[in-house]
Amino acid sequence: MDCDHAGSPPQEKIPLFYGASYVYIRAQMPPTRSFDADVLVIGAGPAGTAAAVGVARQGLRTICVERGHFPRQVVGESLLPRANDLLAGLGLLDAVERRGYMVKKGALFLRGSERERFSFADGLAGDSATSFQVPRDDFDQTLATEARRQGVDVRFGQEVLQADFDNDSASLSVKDVWRDQTQTLRARWVLDCSGYGRVLARLLKLDEATGQPARVACFTHFEGDVRPAVDVEGDIWVCCHPINGWLWLIPFSNGRTSVGMVCDPAYWDALEGTPLQKLITQLQRDPNAAQRLAAARPVLPPQVLREYSTKNNKLHGQRWAVAGNAGDFLDPVFSSGVTLALESATLSADLVTRSVRGEHVDWEAGYTVPMTQAVAVFRAMVNGWYGGQLPDIFFNKQKLARIKSRFTSLLGGYVRRDDNPLARDCARSIASVHAAIATAAV
Ligand code: FAD
Repeated sequence: MDCDHAGSPPQEKIPLFYGASYVYIRAQMPPTRSFDADVLVIGAGPAGTAAAVGVARQGLRTICVERGHFPRQVVGESLLPRANDLLAGLGLLDAVERRGYMVKKGALFLRGSERERFSFADGLAGDSATSFQVPRDDFDQTLATEARRQGVDVRFGQEVLQADFDNDSASLSVKDVWRDQTQTLRARWVLDCSGYGRVLARLLKLDEATGQPARVACFTHFEGDVRPAVDVEGDIWVCCHPINGWLWLIPFSNGRTSVGMVCDPAYWDALEGTPLQKLITQLQRDPNAAQRLAAARPVLPPQVLREYSTKNNKLHGQRWAVAGNAGDFLDPVFSSGVTLALESATLSADLVTRSVRGEHVDWEAGYTVPMTQAVAVFRAMVNGWYGGQLPDIFFNKQKLARIKSRFTSLLGGYVRRDDNPLARDCARSIASVHAAIATAAV
């Protein structure tokens, strides 16, 4: 492909080998010292490395600036099968597979003695049947290393402080956090993948009310839990807590299990003790978690997060776009975060590449609309979960049976399939199935 550097003469093309495909760049780069790169990506979480690889694979010079130093611990450890497709599309799946992460074949929902397992193999035709449970310190480092191998200039310890955009260029003011020096990087486009750093949301005032009630999450890693049988060992467990909220158990292949609770802040704040004492008390109150963790012990200090939902009033603008949590994030209950981060990274990387090449790009139709629709499906599921309708549906085997493959597909992250009626109008579908259950119960 051509790197579109304005005013440069046509150059001879030479092939460069990127993973499995050949791409072409100009043999002699044009004298554009004023541009440090074609695209600057902020943040090296899954959205950032995926987006950076997406543009670099198409021959654009890409710098990814990350304020932290890897490996570092982050929450968001259970992937969905759709994530595997997206990783494969970017040439990242092989590197992930080589890490030997726990293979996740399903999601088990538990409420007291009730349980319902969704096996991803029973989704809709064409859906992938498995995904991974990933310790994020290792996963994010794996993606960053692979991004470098695919040509991305990944720079750690670089914090973006300021961004400026004009008709022709985008520039970032970047501080080297060790040397305490600041430099300006200039490019044709910026992709903000800064997650909760929310760089452009803060600088451009993009924050919007999420519509989600405040919730609190407390989580840590345990060792020594009782693992289920091998075939279902990698399932995520989602336990309806008997008093308030829900619990997650995410088993890793390194012997650790991520355990967390999400509940109302008022309930959490009224509990006595340290965060770890509160978490352990709540785990003991749930019969399923209590049994599985009876002999387990925590191996990391717990973290408490509040008000983690985010929403932007815009996902793109003049020479910028946001992807992953730097845009919209709802709730952890269906493990949608990383998968949506990869979905938005893949879409935006393609549109940024075309924009940099000088093509006319309809960002609303190509980005805002599909991402808003994808998030809307998960929003309907999240609202149905906390409203109590989805647990009623999931634990009603008779009603669920006819539509289970459709729900399984959504739980696998396939929220953009037009051939799934549940994805087309999720909120209404949940309401009508739930109404049928309520009528039958009268
Ligand atoms: P991040 O992973 O947050 O990466 C952003 C990167 O940008 C960071 O490395 C950060 O250091 C960097 N950065 C920030 N500011 C700057 C700056 N100024 N300059 C340079 N770099 C910067 N998702 C799932 O898929 N599965 C789950 O099981 C799951 N569980 C969750 C549980 C909880 C309690 C919560 C709150 C979320 C959960 N999520 C889960 C969501 C998941 O954590 C996020 O969706 C995911 O990490 C988003 O990836 P990202 O790349 O957009 O952002």
